[in-house]
Amino acid sequence: MNATLIDGKVFAASIREKVAAHVARLQAEHGLTPGLAVVLVGEDPASQVYVRNKGQQTKEVGMASFEHRLAAETSEADLLALIARLNADPAVHGILVQLPVPDHIDEAKVINAIAPEKDVDGFHISNVGLLATGQKSMVPCTPLGCLLMLRDTLGSLSGLNAVVVGRSNIVGKPMAQLLLKESCTVTVAHSRTRDLAGLCRSADILVAAVGRPQMIPGDWVKPGATVIDVGINRIPAPEKGEGKTRLVGDVDFAGAAEVAGAITPVPGGVGPMTIACLLANTVTACCRANDLPEPEGLTV
Ligand code: NDP
Repeated sequence: MNATLIDGKVFAASIREKVAAHVARLQAEHGLTPGLAVVLVGEDPASQVYVRNKGQQTKEVGMASFEHRLAAETSEADLLALIARLNADPAVHGILVQLPVPDHIDEAKVINAIAPEKDVDGFHISNVGLLATGQKSMVPCTPLGCLLMLRDTLGSLSGLNAVVVGRSNIVGKPMAQLLLKESCTVTVAHSRTRDLAGLCRSADILVAAVGRPQMIPGDWVKPGATVIDVGINRIPAPEKGEGKTRLVGDVDFAGAAEVAGAITPVPGGVGPMTIACLLANTVTACCRANDLPEPEGLTV
């Protein structure tokens, strides 16, 4: 392996330390405790794990965690009423509704009911618009984590060619906006893109957010490029025993690591950064709500 490994676990731990230090300062100097409310509707096992992890990490950095677990049959009106209460609660600085919500609930309506300044996922239409116009917003956690790692690895990103593969609202599009804001020349690729291989080979920064196991081989990577692999895919791993699986990204890690200048692994790359950035967004939201200076290095 020639590339430098971008260790998301280590980087996420450093973000959590910065958040914890800022939380301690807010408490000591202003008597403020940032609070994050997480709402889960239904019993989806993966969502339950995410919500538990978020609650645990929130408490570990000294913030208040408010968990609201609602039955799968909760009506949209009741969910909206809960969001209205959380919007009005001064102890709550961040609100996250764990997605997906059950089919009978209109996801967009729910997201847009969250007060934009408490929308720590950055999915509210106001935050999307603010980001797209280069204004201060709440930035979606996964792309924020990617950008913080890119800045840490490369310093200035100005003038670099960035290719983002994937155009989802939660990863691809906000990632492209953030890179544009950093003065990269940005191309967004998707399932209809022609000559994806050639495009990827032009990228100084290659971000893969597709959800197709190891679809980007090493020979699509420009020598010396920085590769951020957002994909999380589970594939069979017969070498670990019958029926066993393992996680891989959208990039063929072994092949790409021979060519790239720096690369994130899967697992242990972008994944750990997402919750760390959720905590960062919550402390940022608390500072903004109280007209206090924002923590440095935790937002854009
Ligand atoms: P979506 O399914 O919403 O979007 C996938 C995108 O990939 C689409 O824009 C699609 O194009 C594009 N695509 C599909 N096939 C191809 C192809 N053959 N060539 C080029 N582009 C293609 O996924 P998400 O953005 O939600 O997630 C992407 C990956 O990131 C998943 O593996 C997910 O698990 C992971 N993820 C990881 C997170 C983390 O914390 N690390 C957080 C969020 C997601 P089109 O629009 O044309 O259909």
